Amino acid sequence: MAMELACLDLEGVLVPEVWINVAEKTGIEALRLTTRDVADYDELMRHRLKTLDQHGLKLPDIQAVIATMAPLPGAVEFLRWLDRNFQVVILSDTFYDFAAPLMAQLGWPVLFCHNLVTDASGRITDYQLRLANQKQAAVEAFHSLNLAVFAAGDSYNDTAMLAAADRGFLFRPPQKVIDEFPQFPVTQTFAELAEQFRAASSRPLSA
Ligand SMILES: [Mg+2]
Repeated sequence: MAMELACLDLEGVLVPEVWINVAEKTGIEALRLTTRDVADYDELMRHRLKTLDQHGLKLPDIQAVIATMAPLPGAVEFLRWLDRNFQVVILSDTFYDFAAPLMAQLGWPVLFCHNLVTDASGRITDYQLRLANQKQAAVEAFHSLNLAVFAAGDSYNDTAMLAAADRGFLFRPPQKVIDEFPQFPVTQTFAELAEQFRAASSRPLSA
C-alpha cells in the first residue's frame, strides 16, 4: 500500500491572504489582487513589486504586517488532525521571507515555497521561483516515491497540483475557479475538508 501524503496550499487554506492584509494595512488598493484574481503568477508578482516601489514599501514593512496575522480560525486544529493521519507537506507560492511568523503559529510544518530578492536597504528587487510549477512538480515527484497524494487548495495556482494528485479538493474557492474546474469537490469548512481526506484514504483515520 502506498504511503498517503497530504499536500496543502497555505494562503486561503490555513492562513489569510498575505497581500490582502498588506493592502488593508497600507490602504494600497492595487495590492489587493491575488492568485484568486490573476491566473498568471509572474504578471501578478511584477504588478506587486512595481506597486511596492511606487509607494516606497520594503520587506520589513510587509513583515510588520505579517507579524500581526494569525492562522484562519480552526486551521491549527485541522492541521493537527491531518498530521496525526497523514504525512503533510505545505506547497505554497509564498516566500520564506514572509512565511516564518505564520509557520511558527502552525507548528513549523514542512513548507516548500520561494525566495524574494532584496537589496541592502530591504527593497524587494525581484523574486526567485525555486522551480516553475513547483506544486504540480512536487506531486509528480512524490508519486515517483510511491506516495499517494491528496491535495487541497483554493485558487488558480493550485489546480495543476489538484489535477496531478490522486484526489484534489478545493477549499473556499472563488466562484470563477469553481466554474472553470468543476471536477474538483468544493469544501467550505475544515470539517468538510477533513471528510474529503477521510474518504480519500484507504485506511481508518483517527478522530
Ligand atoms: Mg491559496
